[in-house]
Amino acid sequence: MRQRIVNELGVKLYDIYGLTEIYGPGIGISCEYECGIHLCDDYLCFEIIDPKTGDVLPDGEIGELVITTLKKEGAPLIRYRNHDLTRIIPRKCECGSEYPRIDILVGRTDDMVKVKGVNIFPNQIDEVLDKIKGFSSE
Ligand SMILES: [Zn+2]
Repeated sequence: MRQRIVNELGVKLYDIYGLTEIYGPGIGISCEYECGIHLCDDYLCFEIIDPKTGDVLPDGEIGELVITTLKKEGAPLIRYRNHDLTRIIPRKCECGSEYPRIDILVGRTDDMVKVKGVNIFPNQIDEVLDKIKGFSSE
């Protein structure tokens, strides 16, 4: 769908990340290299945790994104768990930005289902269907 929009409208697309509880959309945006979303870590602190244990995971590992506001005064949030699953991309982006990046969201902690002990997210099924000729992820 993304490529179709680019081709048919002739526009450049950017991913913008955000959530209503924390400033709304715009706490992160992709760059021209399209390899993750740069996060505004001068206003927010980002961590990736194991959703079951709460342990902080090293960069590169997929877990739940946790956000702490650093400058928000009216309704500050400390280690806010938003249920989005992603990872912090460990290396610096080719664009030269110092802002850290998260990868594409792979799901949510609250939409995962277990089938015979295997964790499955609805978007994984979308990806498989999208590869079948005549089907789309929609
Ligand atoms: Zn970049």
